[in-house]
Amino acid sequence: MRAIEIVYKKNVKEKLSYDEIKYMVNSYIKHKISDHTMSEFLWAIYYNGLSMDETYYLTDVMIKSGETIDLSSLNKKVVDKHSTGGVGDKITLIVSPIVAAAGVCVPKMSGRSLGLTGGTVDKLESITGYKLKISKKDFLKELETVGCTVISQSESIAVADKKIYALRDEIGAVDSIPLIASSIMSKKIASGSDIIVIDLKVGQGAFMKNIKDATKLAKTMVNIGKYYHKKVICTLSDMNTPLGRNVGNSLEVKETIDFFNGKYDKRLYELVVYLSSLMISVARGISQRKAKTLVINLLESGHAKNKFEEWIKYQGGNLNKLKDKCKKYIVLSPQSGYVNEIKSLNIAQLVHDLGAGRHKKTDRIDYAVGISLNKTIGDKVNKGEILGTIFYNKKVNDMENLFIDCFKIEKKKRNIKKIILKTIK
Ligand code: URA
Repeated sequence: MRAIEIVYKKNVKEKLSYDEIKYMVNSYIKHKISDHTMSEFLWAIYYNGLSMDETYYLTDVMIKSGETIDLSSLNKKVVDKHSTGGVGDKITLIVSPIVAAAGVCVPKMSGRSLGLTGGTVDKLESITGYKLKISKKDFLKELETVGCTVISQSESIAVADKKIYALRDEIGAVDSIPLIASSIMSKKIASGSDIIVIDLKVGQGAFMKNIKDATKLAKTMVNIGKYYHKKVICTLSDMNTPLGRNVGNSLEVKETIDFFNGKYDKRLYELVVYLSSLMISVARGISQRKAKTLVINLLESGHAKNKFEEWIKYQGGNLNKLKDKCKKYIVLSPQSGYVNEIKSLNIAQLVHDLGAGRHKKTDRIDYAVGISLNKTIGDKVNKGEILGTIFYNKKVNDMENLFIDCFKIEKKKRNIKKIILKTIK
């Protein structure tokens, strides 16, 4: 086989065989074809797409490029959860212990974010002592005893994806549905769960900007699951507004603690209860309504909070010692009206510039910095009232105005978009 012939075939929209895709991926990881040729291949896919079978071939080859985790020794039902990443997305921190408290295991491997704000791993790293690397034996033991765990993505899972994703990122070929679907699903399937619930974010702060593309991505991931007899469920949720009241690593851990103490943002609560109920209902084979009642009980009784604390302590974290040393800058509203929009992308950019996100995987981040919203979408605000707080160590040029510009405040209250858009099974 010759790489350039395979690239040509995709360029003229011909279907590729399993062996051709395998040849490209394996040759690339073995340094037998250059970044340049692989880029040509990725661009050919980017512009011409992949059929469902080709998408499965790519996923399968990437799964086989690394190890797979065997969870069959666990005596409990297992559900994995994935988020395509959003602004202020602390859902994993909240949902995992709720689901574990309902007797369902949540094994989670999470990547370090390259996006505008930190990933789940960065949020957990803002807790002093939290160990992101544990042995496979400990991982299984924690799942058996506590029921949930979050560790950093194993370097040996879907090895090809790591290399290809880095190249896609470098050449700007990230937002292709078959490439995203195969990248996410290769890691999820190799991680061993039979049920995978995906929170697919849609809007300005997300990969998928509109419901049409998000639906296509969701259907592709659900279909990939079918090739492996795995149940994949995708919930599309709105990411035009930041999730919850805080964006920034330690700030989001604090919001999680507040959540378990009964102080929560309404939209965040709605999504948490929905996703937890969905995960529990599929794993335990009960109705989602019954699962929702259970979730609310677990939250109100404190069982979910206890599970959260148990999990963090098990992995060495001290919730009384967050890496949160920074200064505060309170921002007041320059006008009266209703908060009709909070631009999540601009918030993410500001938080990134404050130091919470990275450009390169090796960049150091500041766990303490970020923003907190005192007013959120739909709220009435008076001129001079607190809009929010900027947590900083190094000031960003004009940060007060950048923060104010994230808010659209108007005289008339507009309808607020629902947070849960649809679920695809
Ligand atoms: N997340 C992934 O893991 N892969 C992608 O391609 C996009 C988001």
